[in-house]
Parts: sequence; structure tokens; C-alpha cells
Amino acid sequence: MILVLGGTTEAGEIALGLEAAGVDFIVSFAGATGSDFSRSYTTRQGGFGGSDGLVEYLGKKEITAVIDATHPFAAQMSGQAAAACAVTNIPIVRYERPTWAVLDGCDWSEVSDLDAAARALPGKARAFLTVGTGGLDAFRGRGDVWFLVRSIREVLDPEPNWTVFRQRPPFSIDEEVAVMRTHGITHLVTKNSGGAHTRAKIDAATELSLRVIVVGRPVLPVVESASTVSDILRWAEKI
Ligand code: NAP
Repeated sequence: MILVLGGTTEAGEIALGLEAAGVDFIVSFAGATGSDFSRSYTTRQGGFGGSDGLVEYLGKKEITAVIDATHPFAAQMSGQAAAACAVTNIPIVRYERPTWAVLDGCDWSEVSDLDAAARALPGKARAFLTVGTGGLDAFRGRGDVWFLVRSIREVLDPEPNWTVFRQRPPFSIDEEVAVMRTHGITHLVTKNSGGAHTRAKIDAATELSLRVIVVGRPVLPVVESASTVSDILRWAEKI
């Protein structure tokens, strides 16, 4: 049985491809958001308990291969999956979503992490923050900046200078332009998640000549990788 580490749109596409090919697989989600939708295939939820826990799970479930289709910023899970597969000698492939590249005319600066992104904002900026609930703490010290925070999940303990709204992608460029205009946004802060699903905000910020602060991706252990869903499915057919 193949274990698909999920939490992304592409993990869902990979699951549907495996299902269509009649492959035996299970998709794993970190937590509650994974259970938002009903699915025709088998899923599980919750952490494995570190890489040792994953090693145990791989043995118990007789997993023959792992597809890491987690988000590019889910570095802990990807690291633990690589380590557990190395120990157990189970083949692993990582879906590497292509990064966003700088667009012509985009005022783009790439920073190494969320703390650097928070430091890069000038005082009195009006920033559109799209870094996920897990990334918000880095911005708590910036009481001199006004933040529009968009999140899929509930934001706990929002700061007084945050206006929070919940929304799930995809978004069109027109929708993103409207959000940015309505709130007088001067800066967009985002992680370099890549993919078509959420890139409209970059196009919209470029259209409005806003400053775009992009957090670069974490470095992950080297494993076999592919950047399209169809290449991942071909890999799964071969192993
Ligand atoms: P993370 O820091 O890499 O992982 C934290 C812990 O969550 C892992 O150590 C693991 O717990 C558990 N975990 C993560 N993904 C899992 C999975 N697919 N199945 C079972 N357990 C999993 O990850 P994160 O950044 O918190 O993201 C959590 C999930 O949300 C990921 O699956 C990711 O694909 C998805 N996601 C993340 C982002 C993002 O920006 N980080 C954006 C969109 C979606 P144990 O150590 O106990 O095994």
C-alpha cells in the first residue's frame, strides 16, 4: 500500500489518479482541515509521532512506498518522511510544486523566513498577510503596521491591528485586486507556495504596483522528486 502525505490540492489530484489506476493507497492529513470534505478513498488523520512513529506506522501498515505531497513549507513532515524512508529502505518521492517566479514589473523582494518578512515591512504599511495561521506569530510585534489577515482556519488571539477574514482559495485576479483596493493595501506578504491555485494575489499586487514580500522555501532533504502530478503517478506505477 502507498502512503500519500497530503494537505495540498495536488495530493487530492494524486489520490484521484491512484484511485483511477486501481492502486492501493491511503492519504494522511495532519489534522482537522483534511476532514473538511468527504472522499471516496481511504484517509487517516493526525501526526505519526515524529519519524520514529512514522517508521512504526510504515511497518504496521505494510507501506511499500511513500508519496510526499505535503505543502512546500511543511518542512518537518517532509524531513521526517525522508528520514523514516531512509531507515526502512522504502522508496519515497516528493511532489515539488514549482515556485513562483518574479513577474515583469513586480516589486518583489524575497526574504529567508517569516521574521525577516516582518522586519521588511516599513512602519505605517498596510499589509495583506497570507502566510497561514501557523505563520502569524512573527508579525505580532509589528503594532506600527496595519494587517489584513486572510486565513482558511480560525485565527486565535488576533492583535488589535489585525483585520481577519476567512476564505478558501482559489481566488481570481479581479477578486484579489478588489480586496487590495478596498483595504488600501501597500504590501503583500506571502510564502513562495507556488502553483496556480493561489498566485492571483501576486498578479493583482503587480497590477496595483504594490510591494511584494515573499518568504523563500525551506531547504528539504534530497529525495527523488517530480514537479507534476502525472510524473508522480508514473513513479507510482513503476514501483
Ligand atoms: P509540518 O510543520 O511539516 O508538520 C508538523 C507535524 O504535523 C508533523 O511533524 C507531523 O506530526 C504532522 N503532519 C504534517 N503533515 C502531516 C500529514 N500529511 N499527515 C500526518 N501528519 C502530518 O507541517 P505544517 O506546516 O504544520 O502543515 C501541516 C499540514 O498542512 C501539512 O500536511 C501540509 O501539507 C498542510 N499545509 C501546510 C501549509 C504551510 O504553509 N505550512 C499550507 C497548506 C497546507 P508528527 O511529527 O506527529 O508525525
